[in-house]
Amino acid sequence: MSNYSEYQGIMRKIADIQYASAVLNWDQETYMPSKGAAFRAQQLATLAGIGHELSTSIELGNLLTKLSVDTTLTEKEKRNIKQSLKNYNDNKKYSTEFVQELSKTISETFQAWQKAKTENNFGLFAPFLEKLVKLKREECKLLGDFPHPYDALLNQYEPGAKTADLEVLFTDVRNQLVTFVKQIAAKPQNKDNFMFLNYDREKQWQFGLDLLKQMGYDFEAGRQDASSHPFTTNFSAQDVRVTTRINEKDLNEMIWSCIHEGGHALYEQGLPSEEYGLPSGEYISLGIHESQSRLWENNVGRSLSYWKANFKTLQQTFSENLASITFEDFYKAMNIVKPSLIRTSADELTYHFHVLIRFEIEKALIEGRLVER
Ligand SMILES: [Zn+2]
Repeated sequence: MSNYSEYQGIMRKIADIQYASAVLNWDQETYMPSKGAAFRAQQLATLAGIGHELSTSIELGNLLTKLSVDTTLTEKEKRNIKQSLKNYNDNKKYSTEFVQELSKTISETFQAWQKAKTENNFGLFAPFLEKLVKLKREECKLLGDFPHPYDALLNQYEPGAKTADLEVLFTDVRNQLVTFVKQIAAKPQNKDNFMFLNYDREKQWQFGLDLLKQMGYDFEAGRQDASSHPFTTNFSAQDVRVTTRINEKDLNEMIWSCIHEGGHALYEQGLPSEEYGLPSGEYISLGIHESQSRLWENNVGRSLSYWKANFKTLQQTFSENLASITFEDFYKAMNIVKPSLIRTSADELTYHFHVLIRFEIEKALIEGRLVER
């Protein structure tokens, strides 16, 4: 067996462990009964530990060192090796105990968040959040010297991104968009009160499925379920799952989460299966991922042509609420600008503020400005 095939074999084994964890995570957010929480956190931590041991093995390290100077490899193979070697060196900075502790804390924090949300009680979530932030600050130290500690975490999502660059970007966004939102607020507003009437859950569910089918989402390589926070997850390019959130008093939540998550899912379903487990079979960065969901949401989902094709069906489905609504009113409602508290159903313009505020909060947490040291 060639060194490269051996490398592929190890990488696929690591992917098997990671995707098995993803299945357990998906279940945790969709179907798991609440009493299953403690053992689930333990199961995920065990798998994270096994994955970490495989990802930092001497065997893999030796192979990567040999392959990194192998001139017979194709360009794609060289790129995979370069990326895997970088990941290998990053993984080596963690102890298995830390990886397990972090995984367990993430599960417990998620479970506490879900309970706190249902009971509208931040106090249930606060101690877990505090513990998670403490671990994340430790993680920044483990990962080494960066101009800003938050860079270490940012890099896991957006390789090469720097806090300093984002500060410039967000200052620019803030300066221009705050004025723009104020200008819009000073004008007569579009009406969207008909979006907040009573919309039957089952009918919404079916409409969402139809939107996904229309986008080209492959239901033989995926499925949709309900969750507290809409998300997309995948266990390979052949099994990419989306979730949605249905609010009977707000039709926006289903529409935007289906189109947005559908955009994420199309990206994952389009990844090459033959590259499973290798960097070339994975998404390139979360910025690119989000560009796909936001492209569908804003450039397609809020366009005139999109609703020309879909409004009649929506109107017939919910004739009790929409019979007297004209196409023009509806199209305007789809493009309303109105600050709100929920990012996933925010409009095209104020959505940016949700991201900006999140960045500011996370940066302050990591700098230790929002927690006791
Ligand atoms: Zn997204």
